[in-house]
Parts: sequence; structure tokens; C-alpha cells
Amino acid sequence: MKEKKGRIALTSKRKGRRGYLRIFASYYRPHWKLFALDMVCALLICIVDLAFPYFSRLAMKDLLPQKLFATFFTVMAVLAAAYVLKGVFYYIVTYWGHLLGVRMEADIRRDLFGHMQDLSFSFYDKNRTGQLMSRVTGDLFEITELAHHGPEDLFISVVTLAGAFIIMLTIRWELALIVFAVVPLFALFTIFQRKRMMRCSTEVKAKLAGINGEVESSISGMRTAKAFANEDAESAKFAAANDQFRNAKRGYYKAMATYQSGLELAMGMMSVLVIAFGGMLIMQGKMDLADLTAFSLYVTTFITPIRKLSAFVEQFMQGMAGFKRFVELMDVEPEIQDAPDAADLTDVKGDILVDDVTFRYESSAEDVLSHVNLHVRPGETVAVVGPSGGGKSTLCQLIPRFYDVTEGRILVDGHDVRTLKQHSLREHIGIVQQDVFLFAGTIYDNIRYGRPDATNAEIVAAAKLAEIYDDIMDMPDGFQTQVGERGVMLSGGQKQRVSIARIFLKNPPILILDEATSALDSVTEDHIQSAFDALAEGRTTLIIAHRLSTIRSASRIIVIDGAGIKEEGTHQELLAAGGEYARLWNAQRGGQTA
Ligand code: ADP
Repeated sequence: MKEKKGRIALTSKRKGRRGYLRIFASYYRPHWKLFALDMVCALLICIVDLAFPYFSRLAMKDLLPQKLFATFFTVMAVLAAAYVLKGVFYYIVTYWGHLLGVRMEADIRRDLFGHMQDLSFSFYDKNRTGQLMSRVTGDLFEITELAHHGPEDLFISVVTLAGAFIIMLTIRWELALIVFAVVPLFALFTIFQRKRMMRCSTEVKAKLAGINGEVESSISGMRTAKAFANEDAESAKFAAANDQFRNAKRGYYKAMATYQSGLELAMGMMSVLVIAFGGMLIMQGKMDLADLTAFSLYVTTFITPIRKLSAFVEQFMQGMAGFKRFVELMDVEPEIQDAPDAADLTDVKGDILVDDVTFRYESSAEDVLSHVNLHVRPGETVAVVGPSGGGKSTLCQLIPRFYDVTEGRILVDGHDVRTLKQHSLREHIGIVQQDVFLFAGTIYDNIRYGRPDATNAEIVAAAKLAEIYDDIMDMPDGFQTQVGERGVMLSGGQKQRVSIARIFLKNPPILILDEATSALDSVTEDHIQSAFDALAEGRTTLIIAHRLSTIRSASRIIVIDGAGIKEEGTHQELLAAGGEYARLWNAQRGGQTA
């Protein structure tokens, strides 16, 4: 079932920066206790930082001249204790602050993943997997950076700067004003330099992507490159990309060096400024040494907040841009949704009626199916044949309502599929696709995918029925063998039988089989054919047949091409009619041995 519970409601018709901020803030709400703890600790850190110069000054002013050593050391001990506490607060802010970010990140991922599960086929037609992947990973990274560091960085920086300014004003306002006149210049320099660094870092990322692209294309095309003896050209292309990357990195480090040394310079200048003006004030008798020490100490507390503030500006811009894209993705409504009064499909007999159906994809200029009529009775096996691109797969995708018909209707047991809950409809339909997708994991889990609550014995039985059991037993770890990218690679025929086993477990009354086009060896083909036959037994079955030899026994064959159903009948009838089917049949017999 789709997990919608707890998902943050994103009715972000409320756009604009404030709207996005509000939605962003809503992700903090479930974790407000952690957030409050984080903020309180951040405040305590600020207080300790601000108190140290202040109390040092008092000690120097009031305690040392009167030689009140005991009190002096007590104050120092209290300050030391305060720093121990600050360590604890710092631990909390760092650990719990990140934990808060991690929890929000998990929530955001949960919402995004859940939403992507809801989106219809048409969305995935329009958006490339690679782009979506980089969007999901890249944007989430930016968002979580902001969520992890944003609020406490902002808070600590603002409170420290403002607190220091106020305290410095009370000590010696003239000097405070001079120091703070420099702060904006300092901040401007920081922002400017960080922007430059950001530009350079974007450039580095782009060049790195270029290198990765080169490597990928070069490795995938290695055989071709070797066949054409073009390795040198490939190496030259790579060298060019590598050079660009190196130059981009050089630019980045140059910008970073300027930024860091600029900060050091500015800090040094600020300290000199304080001593110079402070010294003058001391000579005029307006200030004493203790005040000057306190001032110098406050100046050193500036550098971190200013650095953090400028980093925050950047983080905020990037994070919000990522968050905006996230909200936009969350705003895409699934094209196919359950009607409010959608019903469950129960006691399914398996009667399918395609009633005057016309269909066109959003992106296609012409109808793929035009006024198609077909009635498949419960338990009947109908084979769909026709030229490639004729619309066979499309027709089959309309029955589980992966797309909505443009005109006409599709009825299952007399119910228009648009009036049924998608989940309930699809629960009763088993689909074996040409390209079987195996999830990373064990072969056992991949079969169990058909019915997650199946027992061990049921899974073994399904594997036997699908004629994949012996193959599994031959694998290194039997059912526990890892499959997919990082495991054993199964052959096309084995994958198909895994998916047949899934369907045996699911045991749906309606079956859609998209037969493999790729040439299988005849032993495999026999295995698959008998597994298919066993599966179709007693179920309403639509077979998309690419090799006609396998469907001679179907009770009915329909020939379909763009214009709709061309011919309909049994194998013998269609051969006798001498039309499209007979032509396809003869063409295939000439071309293959089966
Ligand atoms: P068949 O299964 O008979 O080979 P299909 O149903 O796959 O044919 O395709 C029918 C037509 O629809 C083809 O012209 C194909 O290019 C087009 N088509 C298939 N899938 C899509 C899609 N997701 N988006 C747009 N056009 C599609």
C-alpha cells in the first residue's frame, strides 16, 4: 500500500519565497523539541562566548588592582566551568543539530519517494531517469545542508555579533563605532569572495561531470574504440577534459586562497585598529588597559560569525533553490488518480471489454489506437499480434490503467477501470514484461516481490511452477544468491521465469504476457513456453506475441496496427483468410527455425 501517513501536506499553491519558507519550516514542526533544545544550547554558547571578555575585564579592573586573588581565581574557575559547559552545549548543538537535519532529510526523502511512487507513467515518459536521479540527490543535498546548519549558524552569528556590539558600546562607544564601521566592509568582502568561490565550484562540478561523461562513454565504447584502433583519440579527448578539470580546480583554490588570506588580513587590521584607537583613548585617559583587552578579545569573536553568516547566505540561496525544485516536483499531480468514490474490485471473474478505445500519448501526434473493440471472456487466452510499433503494448497498458484512454472505455468485469481503485485493479492483474526488472537483493526476495507475505514453501512451489527452480539450485547460494548489478547476472530467459514465479505467487485472475522478442535458445524457449502455458491456465490472458509460432494454440488471435484491429480469428482461420496474419506468419517462418 502507498504510505501517505505523516507526509507533510504540500498544498504549495502558496508560492513566493515566504510560501516556500513556510513549507520548509513545516518540516521542523514534527521535531520542534529537538529544534528548541538546539536553539537553547546555541544561545548558551553565545552567552559563554560573550561573557568571557566581559568578566576578564571586570577581574582586571576591580579584582587585580585590589589584589583580591581569591575572588579573582574564583571568577576564573567559574569561567573555566562555563567553558566546560560550552563544550557540552557545543556537543549538543553539533550532534543533535545534525540529528535534527537527518530526521528532516529522512522526512523530505520519504515524501519525495512516496510522491514519485504515486506519479503516473506519463510523468516518467517526460522525465529522464538520470535527470530525476541527479535532482533527487543533488537538491536533497543542498536542502539538507541548509537544514543541518542553517538555523543555529544564523542564530549564533547574529546573537554573537549583536551581543558583542552592545557590550562594546557600553564599554567605550567611540571605539565600538569605529570597529563596527569596518564590519560591513568585512562582510561585503566575504560575500563577494564566497560568490567567486561558488562560481568556481560550479565550474569544477561541471568539469567533473564532463570527465565522468568521458570516462563512461569511453568505457562503454571501449570495444568500438579498439575495433577502430582509435584509442589515441579517446585518450586525447580524455586528456582535454582532464585539463579543463585541473584548471577549474586551480581557479577554485586561487579564489579560496584570496578569501582566506583576505580574512586573515582583515582580522589583523581590525586588531591593529583596535589597539591604535584604543591606545589613543588610553593616552587621553578615556579608557584603561582592561577595556582594551576586552575589546581585543571581542574582535576575535567576530571572525567566526562573519564567516558563518556569509556561508549562510550562500547555503540559504542554494538550499532554497533546491527546496523550490523539490516543492515543484511535489506539486506535480499524478495524472491518474483514484476517483473520490473509487470502488474495490472484488470477486474478479476476469472479463475484459475494450469498448471503442482510441488512445494517443501526450507526446505523439497521431492516435496509437483508434476505435479498438475487443472482448476477452473469463479464462480465455487471446494473442495480440501485429507489426512492431502497432500498439500492442500500449493496448495492454491501458487495462491496468497505466494510462487513461483518450476516448472510449475499458471495462473489467463490467466496471470502467476509471471507477476502480488503481491498487485494487492492479492487484488482480499479473504482468510479465519483456524487460524484467530485478531489484538488487536475493533471488528469493525478487520472487517474493509477487506477494510479500508468501511462505517459504509457496516461494519454492512458485519457482518450480515457473521452471526456474533447478536453475536456482545451480546458483552459488541457491535462493539466497544476490542478483542484479552487484550479483549474479541472470540470462533473459531466467529473468522472465523469475517474473513468472512472481506472478504464480500473486495468482491474479487476469494475465498480460509481453513475450520476449530477443532470440532465446530452444531449450530456454521450451521452458518459458511451458511456464507461460501453466500460468495462463484458468486465467484471462492477453499475450503479446512477437513470435507467432508460440501462439498457435491461443483460442483467438487479433492482429492490431495503428488503425485498430485488422483481423481476428483462430490461427487456422487467419491463415485461410490470407491477410496480414498470413503474411506475418509466412515472413517469420521463412526467417526462423521455430
Ligand atoms: P508495439 O507493442 O506494437 O510494438 P507500442 O504500443 O509499443 O507498439 O507502440 C505504439 C506506438 O506508440 C509507437 O509508435 C511508439 O513509438 C509509441 N509509444 C510507445 N510508448 C510511448 C510512450 N511512452 N510515449 C510516447 N509514445 C509511445
